Amino acid sequence: MFPNKMNEAEVYRLYRDYVIPSYQREPLCLVKGNGAWVTDIKGRRYLDFFPGWAVSGLGHCHPGVVRAIVNQAEMALHFSNNFYQPYQAKLARTIVKASFPGKCFFANSGAEVNEAAIKLARIYGYRTGGRYQIISFDRSFHGRTLATIALTGQYKVKRGFAPLPQGFWKAKFNDLESVKKSVNPKTSAIFVEPIQGEGGVRPATAEFLKGLRKMCDDNRIMLIFDEVQTGMGRTGKLFAYQNYGVTPDAMTLAKTLGGGIPIGALVVRKDFADLLQPGTHASTFGGNPLACSAALAVFETIEKENLLDNTLKMGAYLKEILKGISPLVKEVRGAGLMLGLELTKEGAGIVAEARKNGLLINCTQKKVLRIMPPLTITQKEIDLGVSILQKCLN
Ligand SMILES: *Cc1c(COP(=O)(O)O)cnc(C)c1O
Repeated sequence: MFPNKMNEAEVYRLYRDYVIPSYQREPLCLVKGNGAWVTDIKGRRYLDFFPGWAVSGLGHCHPGVVRAIVNQAEMALHFSNNFYQPYQAKLARTIVKASFPGKCFFANSGAEVNEAAIKLARIYGYRTGGRYQIISFDRSFHGRTLATIALTGQYKVKRGFAPLPQGFWKAKFNDLESVKKSVNPKTSAIFVEPIQGEGGVRPATAEFLKGLRKMCDDNRIMLIFDEVQTGMGRTGKLFAYQNYGVTPDAMTLAKTLGGGIPIGALVVRKDFADLLQPGTHASTFGGNPLACSAALAVFETIEKENLLDNTLKMGAYLKEILKGISPLVKEVRGAGLMLGLELTKEGAGIVAEARKNGLLINCTQKKVLRIMPPLTITQKEIDLGVSILQKCLN
């Protein structure tokens, strides 16, 4: 049935013997994806309400993205950044036209563009009076490199990796007073997720982001939004900041941006866009023709298929039915198709039970089920997924 002739046990054995065990993996071996569905090595199908940690945000193997990749692969896969190529140019313009006047830097992952944003904040501070401190928030998540774990507001990602890069300060999410206490003459940037993802699907309040914007303006501090998870339509707007009427000085994108191909973008407002000059930053693979063509196809598909509308409609529908699904549900949070169900008990068992019943979801912060179906999800698929989840909860 599948080109891959290995059996499941053999795959698990090879992982055990040859793959570094840095992930907690569920006992599920996937070979194929199509829309909101994935198929395991035994041929069983699962409804995927957490497609690739939001990488497959348009669903698995969206035909528009696949076509763009196949066409591009025959033309050019990679050119170095020592040269010009039209694909990166076009993607940069597309992102800027869809967000705010500025420029882009491309890399290959969320952590990598957050690193680039940290370096941007550092060089901005350096040029404006030796400032270097960056403020971020409790329960935030910004990646797994040394600098991005220093930026991340969760101890569990840092344990065992000291000493970490210096100059990172933490404040309380949705608490302007605590930020005020941390801001000082050495502060160069504030880094925030408009909706904390790994932190338990916690939306920032409009008051909070507006307050941060004012504080940054008053003190010449850069306001940087990590939209790696919230960006590319996930909340019903192309970028989550557009729900708030607060424009950041820079934002980072990855995950859904490439529709399954690794790509990240740092988008920087005009005033700050020329700080990273030749020799200050680079990424060998960053913004190559294949990745840029995939990302262009993602933008095109979101527009052509009215996926922002679908996200709002399906998100509102899903949120409403999730509220009444079980007495175990304490709260349903989030925007668009980025939803979190806070339970009154731990959720790991529910995730396992859902998988056994053919539904893939995620659990974060122990008690929050994270539900992020592809933006292409249909009402029928939502009904099916919810009925499975309801059975597992009750
Ligand atoms: C996933 C994520 C990252 C890290 O992205 P990688 O591609 O895994 O490096 C950073 N920030 C947020 C908000 C994320 O959700």
